[in-house]
Amino acid sequence: MNKTPRIRIPSEVRTYVFQRDKYQCQSCGKTTLETDLTIDHIIPLSLSGRNDLSNLQTLCASCNQQKTNHIDPRFRCHFDV
Ligand SMILES: [Zn+2]
Repeated sequence: MNKTPRIRIPSEVRTYVFQRDKYQCQSCGKTTLETDLTIDHIIPLSLSGRNDLSNLQTLCASCNQQKTNHIDPRFRCHFDV
């Protein structure tokens, strides 16, 4: 399985995802007024996630950080990384 190349997410895509998610972190619900919001790949690119709107969500910086640090080993196993 080939890795999906990491591309820069175009600003219009970022804006679309933020608007779709109502400028709220999809994990803790904080808004852009309370925290820094980032675009997250739901399935990481390293696990062959896609640069696709359906694979993008709004996460705040701290949730995004936690997610990176806690990749579920079963998930990893399932994708045979
Ligand atoms: Zn959050």
